[in-house]
Amino acid sequence: MKNILVIEDEEVIRENILKLLKAEGFNVTGAENGMQGLSLAMANLPDVILCDVIMPELDGYGVLTALRSNPVTATLPFVFLTGKADRSEMRQGMELGADDYLTKPFTKTELVGAIASRLKKQEALAEQYNTLCSQSSDLIEDARYKLELIKKSLSGALEREEFQVYYQPQVNLQTGKIMSAEALVRWMHPERGLIAPAEFIPAAEETGFIVALGEWVLQTACRQIIGWQDAGFLDLRVAVNLSPRQFYQPDLSNRVAKILEASGLEPSCLELELTESLMVQDAESAIASLQKLKALGVSISIDDFGTGYSSLSYLTQYPFDVLKIDRCFISNIIDGCNKAAIVKAIIEMAHSLCLEVIAEGVETEAEKDFLWRYDCDAMQGYLFSPPVPAADFEQMLIEGK
Ligand code: C2E
Ligand code: MG
Ligand code: MG
Repeated sequence: MKNILVIEDEEVIRENILKLLKAEGFNVTGAENGMQGLSLAMANLPDVILCDVIMPELDGYGVLTALRSNPVTATLPFVFLTGKADRSEMRQGMELGADDYLTKPFTKTELVGAIASRLKKQEALAEQYNTLCSQSSDLIEDARYKLELIKKSLSGALEREEFQVYYQPQVNLQTGKIMSAEALVRWMHPERGLIAPAEFIPAAEETGFIVALGEWVLQTACRQIIGWQDAGFLDLRVAVNLSPRQFYQPDLSNRVAKILEASGLEPSCLELELTESLMVQDAESAIASLQKLKALGVSISIDDFGTGYSSLSYLTQYPFDVLKIDRCFISNIIDGCNKAAIVKAIIEMAHSLCLEVIAEGVETEAEKDFLWRYDCDAMQGYLFSPPVPAADFEQMLIEGK
């Protein structure tokens, strides 16, 4: 049964309407003034409100304004009962958000017709809302299902040993020798061939699979470096990327400690790379996590520096050891250009904070010369070598590069 609220201060009119609507099978409530009407509307959320315009104290406009300003009652169907067919009065009511109006005196047919059309519209809206809700929950279900599939295919790939770690040399700019390797994951897909991390890391991050994958990369890289150290390349270090999901694992430092112990690698030979965006998410817990990692003896580097949204002041708050200048600042850098001013300032600032500086994406001799002149510590880029499989990296070590 539909509920109709009638707000009308003239008792005779109110009682007449209530009687008539009751006879039509509606559940009716009457209010004799605006305040009472408003509180009944808020409490009962009727299906239709019929409301007189002119009433003492709170008039019909006041009732309507209050209802429309509250999200819970904002869409309740509202029909004004006006004393005369005054156009300006009706306009004002419609502008405040009334759905319809009836001019007194009105016939039973007019009254029931106005209510019926409000109810019909409300039902259509409810149906539309339900359809939208079920469509959006279908979409959410669909997206969840797709992510589940991606996660399964990534986990399968890890079990089938389709992932590989490539190594890119980081070269000391003073000596020109390889000092460390950045571990970069690759997917050797049986049909699609080599897949770059940009294509699967975001999905791995979203599904949480990155935790397993990242740990596998860390284990593999630590073992590999121990292998090379045992072969005589004693001072070689390794840098491994940590994703936000990995970084915010509560037991991260224990996991890293276990991997280091199992591989036998000295913590001082491991550097963990983090991106700036990660730091601005939750500064306090980020600092706490970094301190736990540092307590193990590993170094922390800030990757892709300059591309995030964080302020420079955070460099003083976080216990970083290495700053990696993003490739976009290095590409085509020449003296006198804006990039040159930025890179010089970054190097100087980093050094004054006792940070080591590595330039990423060095592709030309001119870029390398610039960095050498301005005292950058190390470089990484295609000029020296792209990321390569372990066997090729070993060859570079043997050749004394
Ligand atoms: P990144 O950590 O900033 O790694 C450097 C990227 O720059 C690598 O791309 C490398 O191949 C590329 N690069 C190096 N030198 C040059 C150059 O001279 N020119 C150009 N154009 N590019 C150069 P890659 O290997 O495709 O990796 C992309 C990103 O994927 C990495 O950026 C890192 O954020 C992420 N990633 C890679 N491996 C892992 C991993 O094991 N774990 C996590 N969490 N992320 C990873
Ligand atoms: Mg990196
Ligand atoms: Mg980078």
